[in-house]
Amino acid sequence: MALYPVLDDPVATPVGAVSRLVDGGEMDCGSGLLLLITRAMRRLGGGELLAIRSEEASVDTDLPVWAELVGHEVVDRLAESSSGPWWFAVRKVDQGLRDTVFSSGSRTPLGQRLWVYTNFDCNLACSYCCAESSPKAASRRVTADLLRGVAAEFSAMGGRELFYTGGEPFLHPELGDLVQAGAGLERTILTNAMIFGRGRRRETLEAMDRSVLLQVSLDSASPELHDRQRGKGSWARAVDGIGLARSLGFRVRVAATLYEEDPAGVRALHATLDEQGIDREDRVIRPVAQEGFADTGVHVSLDTLEPEPTITADGAWWHPVAVTDPHLRIADAPLPLAEVFGVVRDTMAVQDAAARSGREVFRCA
Ligand code: SF4
Repeated sequence: MALYPVLDDPVATPVGAVSRLVDGGEMDCGSGLLLLITRAMRRLGGGELLAIRSEEASVDTDLPVWAELVGHEVVDRLAESSSGPWWFAVRKVDQGLRDTVFSSGSRTPLGQRLWVYTNFDCNLACSYCCAESSPKAASRRVTADLLRGVAAEFSAMGGRELFYTGGEPFLHPELGDLVQAGAGLERTILTNAMIFGRGRRRETLEAMDRSVLLQVSLDSASPELHDRQRGKGSWARAVDGIGLARSLGFRVRVAATLYEEDPAGVRALHATLDEQGIDREDRVIRPVAQEGFADTGVHVSLDTLEPEPTITADGAWWHPVAVTDPHLRIADAPLPLAEVFGVVRDTMAVQDAAARSGREVFRCA
């Protein structure tokens, strides 16, 4: 399901008959319109026309810049009034010309890393959860069949690292199969480490290949801060879970999430992790992102987040912290990955072209 109106059939518009129509509403290029247009253009043949309608004034400036950067041609523009909305008709150039215009630049290689949201339900409801997970959240589980398809395509395209996240992945009854499906890739599971101590989930953990890395959230050296952010009693159970996983032979990475810089608290956490024997390279301290449940934190957008393609049971996203942000959705289905990575690659090419030319097409809302 498209989150914004996209017409996939030929249609008559104020800028003429076109093959496809995107109505961007009040979105600007930086807050999602660019992704929407990129997705639509990939589905057009060379020479076909895309109509774009926008109620956002900055688009009247940014869209022609975008078209010039990527080599597409704005063949018509029309304003319904001085305050919009604005209409554009853009002709897609042939693939060959686009390839001479596009460049992947010098960023982290795209295609090596993929994130999978195994499910969205969680035993916790942390105050900063970017996925809006909780015990009441719809589970939106990825199936083992889907994961096998994802892992096969990702491996074939040269992918290396698969991250399983959620929600709490150990709530997924088929987590063992999901992890097995990614055999041959470097696999990491993000977990709160609270629910795999007993029963069926303990069996799932014990049966897992020890090459699987467990990344466990631990926000502080003592319970106060961690429990305030994540729920009463969660610190003690996370510490127990870390101990259990390590006793079973798993490598554990600890990730702390903080609203504010806290040098003393971070020093104390490092001291605790030193005592536990957690390697320095297996510690991540990161700020809260203003996404999902978090109403404060670091603002993220297309122009501030390096892409880390992320799939869910029902779509694909620019980055794992942005799966509740409709502006950062890149596909309406998780497969094929070629389409998911293609949209990201095309968008990065625009970003690189804009950076090289010193032009701005990614205004933040
Ligand atoms: S931050 Fe992690 S542990 Fe907390 S609610 Fe979200 S998914 Fe669950």
